[in-house]
Formats: sequence, structure tokens, C-alpha cells
Amino acid sequence: MLDLLIRGGEVVTPQGVGKWDVAIQGERIAAISLPDARAEAARVIDATGKLVVPGGIEPHTHLAHFVSMHPEDDLFTLGPEEDTRGMVFGGTTTHIDFCFVRPGTDISHAIETRAARWKGKSYADYSFHVALQGQLPIKLFDQIPEAIRAGFPSFKVFTAEVLPPHPKRHPYRLDFGRIQLAMEKVAAHDGIMAVHAEDHDIVQFMYEKFREEKRTEGWLLSEVHNKLSELLSFRRTIQLATHTGAAVYFVHTSAKEGVEAVAEARARGLPIYAETLHHYACFTAEDYKAPRGFCYHTYPSLKYPEDQAALWNGLVRDGVSTTATDEYPTSLELKLRGKDLENVTGGNLGAEARMGIIFSEGVMKRRMSLQRFADVTSTNAARILGFHPRKGVIAPGSDADLVLIDPAIMKTLSRDDFHVSDYSPWEGWQVHGWPVSTVLRGKVVVENGRLLGSTSDGQLIPRKISPEVLRRPAC
Ligand SMILES: [Zn+2]
Repeated sequence: MLDLLIRGGEVVTPQGVGKWDVAIQGERIAAISLPDARAEAARVIDATGKLVVPGGIEPHTHLAHFVSMHPEDDLFTLGPEEDTRGMVFGGTTTHIDFCFVRPGTDISHAIETRAARWKGKSYADYSFHVALQGQLPIKLFDQIPEAIRAGFPSFKVFTAEVLPPHPKRHPYRLDFGRIQLAMEKVAAHDGIMAVHAEDHDIVQFMYEKFREEKRTEGWLLSEVHNKLSELLSFRRTIQLATHTGAAVYFVHTSAKEGVEAVAEARARGLPIYAETLHHYACFTAEDYKAPRGFCYHTYPSLKYPEDQAALWNGLVRDGVSTTATDEYPTSLELKLRGKDLENVTGGNLGAEARMGIIFSEGVMKRRMSLQRFADVTSTNAARILGFHPRKGVIAPGSDADLVLIDPAIMKTLSRDDFHVSDYSPWEGWQVHGWPVSTVLRGKVVVENGRLLGSTSDGQLIPRKISPEVLRRPAC
């Protein structure tokens, strides 16, 4: 007999959308079949009137992370034990955080340290991007193939220092020589680069210029982390990728210029992918001036209506492959502590809202198809970053990671809808449709708004990227 049967829902699969039953045995999907009232299972969930979509994959979080905007205070963002509770409520069953490799450490040690921090502390499954930062010894790059073989095939680099230098801030930036070296290793061993692309010179010059002009207001962030910086850096990175043969995943694409650079590269057949954030798609630089405006800030910065239009066009049609949060969960007090250009707290709190917001804004408002919704919230991240076919699709043999969305829900989000911190930037937002139940590897972890999962549910999932994703734009 089956363990679990999800009956009567509108199921979103790579082959199409239809009224099917999803049969689950143990942690895996056993079958997707026409409704059959005689099928028996230990548990049956009636999904009539609901959509059944693949569990969300959040490809970009910074949990238990040093808060570098207030370097004197030694603060950290909330950990997986707090943030992933929100994820499962919001339909996200897997996330990717970072392990930071800085001079003085090596890759396997950085992975082990982060994995130990997460073990038994996550409601959702997880993995880590390997972040390469600072003046790393050239020899260290020889460890890249081993990390890929161990199930960690994505390597994050920053092309710019995001903030002005400070003695207590770790350098983030990797110089372009080292980025080239990383790309060569990654290209040869079926890995991918995850790039935070901004132009270092432009960003640092703008900080200096505003400092000299004694203009310190935080809302100027859009002029420091500006559109020209994104244009220059995306194109420079794509040139380097073309030269080395590396596939690139651009994190938090924020501007039309970034979307256009990615679209052009893809038209030339290059394996270049863009991620954006629901915050970038829904808020603009004007919102910085609202009383809680810095709630919406992450680096690079919020942009303008024409950028939002380009991001939505890329999400609904093609060119922007994934949605992420750049999750950086803190209390409201910490998020709003800095008001100046150099100390506004970056990062978002929105992994819990991501699936619901993209459903409401994309499917309900902008005619995004249900399959495209599954692509940009789950399937594409699974493919590009190596969870597929184990995760990211509702298919026989895949992990039974599923979310039930009730498309009839219409509400104004309030604090009670969220389960991580003492605020959400999405309070007051009107939504149409919202996740109600979540299944992680066959276990019902949230049922009609009730938490049934625990921090011992989440597992470290090894990743391997299909060569087809790394040779041409596959999704
Ligand atoms: Zn980030």
C-alpha cells in the first residue's frame, strides 16, 4: 500500500498540467496517475481546488551570516533553525546557502564547518555554494574539482567590494585573474560560476564621491550600486566566460542592462543564466524613501520601473531563469538600524513569501503559465544548480517535495502570515493565491497552516549539474 496519496489537485508537471493523483512511497514519488477512487494509501490528502506544484528551491540565502554593515557590533543573521521554518510554511523545501573560503582556510574545511552548523537545524533540505573570497592562494583553486565531485558544483564570486573597506570587514571581491582561474577549473569539471556582478571601480568611486559631497542618505544606494555598474560587470563577466568556456549563473540581477546582457549571450548559445529577486521585481528605488523603506534593500540596490518591466518580462517569458531572496534575516530593529549610505543593513527577509508572491504577481497578475511558475520557483534552480532530477519536478522517482497552493485565497498579508522574525517586508501586500501545505520527501511538514515538521527533517543534498545545462542555455 502507498504511504501518501494527494488526490484531486491540479498537478503541475514538466509534461503538462492536469487533474491527477500523486502517489508517494517513502520519500519518493511513485506514480502520477488518473484519479482512481479505489487507490489506497495510509494517508490521503484531498487537494480538490488546489494546485500541486514542485517544492520551491531557494537558491540564495545568507543564514547565520556576519552582518558586515555594522562591523563593530559582531552581529549575525538568524540561523537555519529560524529561517527555514518560514521556508516550509511558504512552500520552499530546499535552499542553498554559502560556505565562505577566505585566505587561511580551504574548501573542504569551509564546507564541513557550514554542514556541521546546519545538521539537525533545518526544516528544509539544503546545500551550499562555495564562495571564493579575497587574496586566495593560487594553489587553492586546485581543490575545485574535488569539491565538485563531493557534490558542491557552484562557486560564488563577487566582482566588487559591496561596501567601502573597513578593518573588521572580510574582503569579498575576487580579482578578475582569480575569477578566470576559477572559471577554467569549473569549466573543465562540470561546475558553474555564481557571480555577484558589479563594477568595483564605479561602486567604490560613487561611495567616495558622495562622501566628499557630504551626501550620506541611504536612498542614494541606487546611484552607487547603479545600472551602469551592472551593465559593465555583466558584460565583462560574460566575455571572460566566453573565453574560458564556463557557465555562469548571475545572482540577483537587478537592472534591465543585466537582463539584456544575459539575453544577448543566450541568443549566441552561451550557457548564461539570470536569477532575480521578488523584491527587485516588486519594489523600486522610490520605496527607499518610505518609513520602512530600507526593509526592501539588498545589494546591489532597488532600481526603477523600466528595470522591473525587464525582470518580469524575463520571468514570464525567457531570459530570467530563477527567483531567489538573497535571504538575510534579522529583527526589524537591526534591519532599520542604519540610515546612511554606508550602513543600511543589506539583504532581504522574504524566502517565506517568495512562492506566494511570484504566484500572485506572476500567475495571477501577469499571465505567467503554471509550468513557467514551477520553472522559475523550482525546476530551473534544480537544473542549473544540480538538484535535478531528484528535485524540482513532480515526476516518478523524484523526491516527494510538493506544495499545495490555494488559488482562491485573497488577502492582505499581515505579520501573522509569517514565521521567522518580528516583521516581514511583505506586510500590507495584497495577494491572490497562497501556499497552504508542504510535503518534504514524503513527510507532510505543513498542513493547512499548521507546522508538523522539525529541524531534524532537513538533509544536505549532494548536487551534480547535467552537462547539457553547462554547454548551452537549457532553461
Ligand atoms: Zn547574496
